Amino acid sequence: MSPAANSNLFAALRAAFPADLDAIAIETDSGLDYSWRDLDRATAMLANLLQSLEIPAGSRVAAHTEKSVEALMLYLATLRAGLVYLPLNTAYQAAELDYFLGNAEPAVVVCAGKNFPWISQLAFQKGVAHVFTLNDDRTGTLLDRAAHFPDTHEIAPKAAGDLAAILYTSGTTGRSKGAMLSHGNLLSNAQVLKDFWDWREGDVLIHALPIFHVHGLFVASHGALLNGSKMLWLAKFDPKAVVERLPRATVFMGVPTLYVRLLQEAGLTREACAQMRLFISGSAPLLIETFRDWQARTGHTILERYGMSETIMLTSNPCRAADGEPEPRRLGGTVGPALPGVGVRVVDDQGAALPVDEIGNVQVRGPNVFGGYWRMPEKTAEEFTADGWFRTGDVGRFDAQGYLTIVGRSKDLIITGGYNVYPAEIEGWLNDMPGVAESAVVGVPHPDFGEGVIALIVPKAGAVLDADALVARLKAQIAGYKVPKRAFVVTELPRNAMGKVQKNLLRDAHRALFTG
Ligand code: AMP
Repeated sequence: MSPAANSNLFAALRAAFPADLDAIAIETDSGLDYSWRDLDRATAMLANLLQSLEIPAGSRVAAHTEKSVEALMLYLATLRAGLVYLPLNTAYQAAELDYFLGNAEPAVVVCAGKNFPWISQLAFQKGVAHVFTLNDDRTGTLLDRAAHFPDTHEIAPKAAGDLAAILYTSGTTGRSKGAMLSHGNLLSNAQVLKDFWDWREGDVLIHALPIFHVHGLFVASHGALLNGSKMLWLAKFDPKAVVERLPRATVFMGVPTLYVRLLQEAGLTREACAQMRLFISGSAPLLIETFRDWQARTGHTILERYGMSETIMLTSNPCRAADGEPEPRRLGGTVGPALPGVGVRVVDDQGAALPVDEIGNVQVRGPNVFGGYWRMPEKTAEEFTADGWFRTGDVGRFDAQGYLTIVGRSKDLIITGGYNVYPAEIEGWLNDMPGVAESAVVGVPHPDFGEGVIALIVPKAGAVLDADALVARLKAQIAGYKVPKRAFVVTELPRNAMGKVQKNLLRDAHRALFTG
């Protein structure tokens, strides 16, 4: 099959490799250089190994591995072999793995050697036929076995609708669901972003994100690969290592907490960022203060975008300036307009479209939207409207310029005494108060109001806050029903690996506050 006729995502990525295969594709923080030829050969060997297992098309390859270039190669080889990649956060322990392996029924599991005793036992109990090891220092049985296979491989033919990867959602309520993403979903989104973010010759990406999540695995890696761009690869985020690499890079992608940590580095200066073209933030809301501090310190305006595991990227602030404008119009606090070819609408609970500035449910459709949840047809049916839009579960509003602002997750919406309270609004007021670094507002059961609003407030370094005084101030600013009934000063907010505040943990911790 000619590469053009093959909709395998790997075929498109491979076709974008530069003509000079000896150029460096990935430079790691442990001092290793991988050429494009290395990527081609190693993924061929791994794909040949996977195909030698003679597992049926569509079989899942689960990876519970630390971030390494070889782990990225395993992903690419899985695509190349026409199998389905299933990345798992290495923080997952036995109970979680038990669920994922039982639900996804992978044919192959790859894990670190140190975890082999317990993961292999679990995997074999679940009927997994092949368990390999892969460590972050280029050792393990996966590479040992692959070394015996040829370094050329014909990319497996795939249709655009064929499954490429399953990403389990973080599942803060109920069981985690496996979002099924096809080769076409992934490629269409990568192509849109390549153009929209103006990827160009000479771009160099600092890759500092984990690769078990949509942001690091798809948005960052596909972006660089589809542009034939070099990656400066960090196995773990380290603010000093990022700052050191800025003068040799042009693009950085991070979750908001990475930007907050980078701002604490004295070396983050305009000079250090002089070569940089684009700083992109997503996966969680970027505080307006971070957006402004970044502008003041570096002279760069962070581009915030919005997406999710089920849909990859949905909206983005602009990369380029519009005709006649000096600067791209990137509005802090917003996630920008819908990406080209992506439909985004805001509707009320009955599904009727809402006018500009009104808050409602965000629904999306487009070639990037997943096919459904793995083995959960009822859940899938619930999450799509009759006319084919996916209910994101996010709540937001459009402004008159078509820029979307995400107000929160619908399950985080608080209904107190029959009134809706959008946590992001109250958090915004609190965050603006002197001495407040950030805050989280949640609803917990209340005997009179159904839910009572409470706030957790983190002070800025060195600031001493009086929670009651902040609440008193808020009372003078906003409607009484929105004002937290209780507020607590805390040292930090619980966050997951992607920097999202885990509001479910806050609700659980304060569940009995009003009900005793
Ligand atoms: P995940 O599937 O883990 O990537 O989580 C997706 C969710 O992250 C979305 O549904 C949003 O709630 C949230 N999210 C992603 N990007 C942003 C953003 N820029 N601002 C606010 N929330 C975001």
